Amino acid sequence: MTEYKNETYLDFSDPIHHNAQKAALDNVRSKFGQTWPMYIDGKKVNGDHGTMDSINPSNTNEIIGTFQMASKDQALKALDAAWKAFETWRYVPAEKRAGILFKAAEICRRRRLEINAWMISEAGKNYLEADADTAEGIDFLEYYAHEALRYDKGMEVIDAWGDTNRTHYIPLGAGVSISPWNFPFAITLGMAAAPIVAGNTVVAKPSPDTPMMGWIIAEIFEEAGLPAGVFNLVTGDNLEVGETLTTSPDTRFINFTGSLGVGLHINEVAAKTSDQTKWMKRVFAELGGKNAIVVADDADLDAASTAVVQAAFGFQGQKCSAASRVVVCDKVYDKMLELTVEKAKALKVGDAKDNYSAGPVVNQKAVDKIMSYIEIGKKEGRLVLGGSLAETENPGFYIEPTIFADVDGYARIAQEEIFGPVVTLQPFDTEEEALAMANDTQYGLAAGVWTSNLNRTHRLCARLKFGIVWVNCWLLRDLRTPFGGHKASGVGREGGWEALRFFTEPTNVCVKL
Ligand code: NAD
Repeated sequence: MTEYKNETYLDFSDPIHHNAQKAALDNVRSKFGQTWPMYIDGKKVNGDHGTMDSINPSNTNEIIGTFQMASKDQALKALDAAWKAFETWRYVPAEKRAGILFKAAEICRRRRLEINAWMISEAGKNYLEADADTAEGIDFLEYYAHEALRYDKGMEVIDAWGDTNRTHYIPLGAGVSISPWNFPFAITLGMAAAPIVAGNTVVAKPSPDTPMMGWIIAEIFEEAGLPAGVFNLVTGDNLEVGETLTTSPDTRFINFTGSLGVGLHINEVAAKTSDQTKWMKRVFAELGGKNAIVVADDADLDAASTAVVQAAFGFQGQKCSAASRVVVCDKVYDKMLELTVEKAKALKVGDAKDNYSAGPVVNQKAVDKIMSYIEIGKKEGRLVLGGSLAETENPGFYIEPTIFADVDGYARIAQEEIFGPVVTLQPFDTEEEALAMANDTQYGLAAGVWTSNLNRTHRLCARLKFGIVWVNCWLLRDLRTPFGGHKASGVGREGGWEALRFFTEPTNVCVKL
């Protein structure tokens, strides 16, 4: 077994990779409009409640594919299949479970450009954003496989009484993974791979906006040799399918990534007990963010403004880790604003298949929500860039990159997750003010600090209430480090040493001879 290492991204400025991605897109586009099944107990299954279409957000005239609407009964049958499979999968040695994930990673590498192409078409990512998503999916498979082997060794414990103790991690059972559309490959794959490699079985429900990614994952797991019932894929309505799975007394754990509202709702309904209660369901919820970047007067403003534009407008701001608030020292505020606006103006909006720097947002609901926040922003701050739907060749969900200056920390656009291409700039005078502004939201996922002063770095990092703080960088990710939020940004961690701990139960056997 080789050591874990991060997958590198393809360089699409190299015509070889660019043209290869274009060719993969042509190939995938020739398959648009086909109908794809669900995957339950190792079988391809049609939905009892008809079908739904997945639309290309870059061109709403195009149907990517048609997917199944499961019934309540089918969702529960998938859970039954997962429990049946658990009885054998739980005893499969860790090396074999990890081996299947390593094989799945190889399949992803082989299908990389094709996976990117479906994602570009279904989620509206440009080439690099799609490739980073696929690469992260591969990283999840590799990292969790390595971690399963480490966990298999058990926990080190002390034998104090002449006894011998062995503490091992046992899997929980059959659970549900409910994923969002914004990292439709990496997160859907990682949220299934972590519990599975720890010996659990899963019913995965991807977002109705990106069901194709769910289907590709089912194909990958099948080819990698995962036994029937260990990974099941159901698609359909949030209430009919999603809520059936989260409220079932047979669900042992819920692995959820999504918005704060839905996460809190799931946490609440999952906690309800009845006379059929067999366990307290475990709920992991990776939720939203209202991430802030603090720019001090001694920061490299050129580098900071480039980072802000990437962090705020990469994938149209539709990342839990997007920076949506920039808190800037008043001494350099005007210069930072000028540089940020100048760089954001250079972003060109258009069809993701043509690799524009800014593509569409995901659907009409997102357009309506983002545009309503832009209208609120026009009253709460000074609009300095964008603020409208973007004009493009295609009918699609396009919004101009938008910047509001001089926004008060209590403004709604500085407090609520917009999840679109909108960023606010707020001036501060003292470090205390900067900390108060950055910390003052219900969220606590990620923050950034731009400064050349080491003492200031330590002072700020000690008091920023976020699960991740990036200093003079943004979104540098290595899965060996934990990613997850404080406060209402959730419970649980993707990556890091504790990730598999959430899907296992430490069990101690104490022997006295
Ligand atoms: P969402 O909350 O609308 O949906 C997430 C998933 O939940 C989808 O699969 C959806 O179909 C399902 N769902 C909705 N209602 C449900 C219900 N009642 N019962 C069961 N399932 C239900 O989120 P989204 O729009 O898909 O994703 C964007 C959100 O996800 C943002 O808030 C973003 O910050 C967050 N996110 C967080 C992280 C993280 O790591 N913290 C990563 C990615 C996205």
